[in-house]
Amino acid sequence: MSADDTSRVLVAGGGIGGLAAALALARTGRPATVFEQAETFKEIGAGIQLGPNAFHTFDALGITDKVNRLASFPDDIVAMDALSGERLVQLPVVRLFPQRFGRPYGLIHRADLHAVLLEACRESGRVTLHAATKVQDYEDTPDGVVVRTQRDETFTGAALIGADGLWSTIRAGIVGDGKPRVSGHIAYRAVLRADEVPDSNRLNAMVVWMGPKYHLVHYPLRGNELFNLVAVFHSDRYEDGWDTYGDPEELHLRFQGAHPLVLGMLEKIESWRMWVLCDREPVANWSKGRVTLLGDAAHPMLQYLAQGACMAMEDAVCLAGKVQAHRGDMAAAFLDYQQARYLRTARTQLTARLYGHAYHAAGATRDLRNAFLGARTAEQTMESMAWMYDPKEIPR
Ligand code: FAD
Repeated sequence: MSADDTSRVLVAGGGIGGLAAALALARTGRPATVFEQAETFKEIGAGIQLGPNAFHTFDALGITDKVNRLASFPDDIVAMDALSGERLVQLPVVRLFPQRFGRPYGLIHRADLHAVLLEACRESGRVTLHAATKVQDYEDTPDGVVVRTQRDETFTGAALIGADGLWSTIRAGIVGDGKPRVSGHIAYRAVLRADEVPDSNRLNAMVVWMGPKYHLVHYPLRGNELFNLVAVFHSDRYEDGWDTYGDPEELHLRFQGAHPLVLGMLEKIESWRMWVLCDREPVANWSKGRVTLLGDAAHPMLQYLAQGACMAMEDAVCLAGKVQAHRGDMAAAFLDYQQARYLRTARTQLTARLYGHAYHAAGATRDLRNAFLGARTAEQTMESMAWMYDPKEIPR
């Protein structure tokens, strides 16, 4: 092994989590190699919400200014009842969050966030990027971790991070808990030009309309030129994978009876992409020797708290800090990292499921939800999110 190989960390997966991990390590002086199975390094999907905790990780990754130039900052988070059109929550995040959590609440196009991370990796001079390179398997040997790709090439490094998402190959060798859990919730996603959005919905706000077994989220992106739409409903229909064509007929069927402002948004979309939403039970053992997991590979969650990518970036910063603290003893660093992150990410996984139930409530559960949300002050609503957003809660 070369001197470089004895410190280089191999990263399987060049999504938001993998790039953030490579960047965080590079910033501590450690070289990293990222393998991405796709032809190019890019993100699919559209918008992503960024809690104040994500902005704290941007500071640690040195990319805050670049993100701020590309992100939108909504005035409010708004929750609506999708049947009655009643406004249940209006949380003035632009006014309250910087004061309480030290950072704002933001919205960004995934491709923009990914591009910022990619550029920062390149600029670091310490990150090597291999596109069109699928990691097939690995071996943790006494001399280092050897990764084998689908073209039968091998690469050796001091350690391996599996940042290879929900369907992680690396996870199989560590946790061995089979396939992800299919939630029965389907997401349709689309982007509209702002001038296509009906006036009453063209708000500088993250708006969620909650209905029985469905919800719709919309928010502006890219200087309010675009609107991101995510429509979620319960369905037995199941297909593996991401970025599949979504049948509008099924969507309109599931949203039957929704408020005209909801239907008015759905009608504007001709072409949807569909995601089958999955998660896993939390586990406490996602590290083994000099191999660990990060982001969705470690703790995939439903999107109801909008935290999957935020948690992946928190992981990255924590992991790099532990590697530095353990002076390159990778096995010890990975156990320490897992210990620091386990309960926070497990809480996010499990709470996201609960939020899914509340979003999609019907009957008495809906009435109770509406009464509960409607009775809270903005400050109380904000405090209910402090466990995610307060920087004191982010393990380092
Ligand atoms: P991924 O983004 O899945 O990246 C994994 C990468 O690894 C991919 O590029 C893949 O091609 C590559 N790969 C896979 N296998 C291999 C292999 N064997 N070899 C090489 N490369 C491989 N999160 C938020 O924080 N805020 C939100 O608002 C939000 N909204 C969401 C809305 C929806 C509808 C969904 C579905 C998710 C949402 N999330 C959100 C969650 C977020 O998208 C994920 O948690 C995040 O993208 C996970 O990042 P990752 O890097 O861990 O995994």
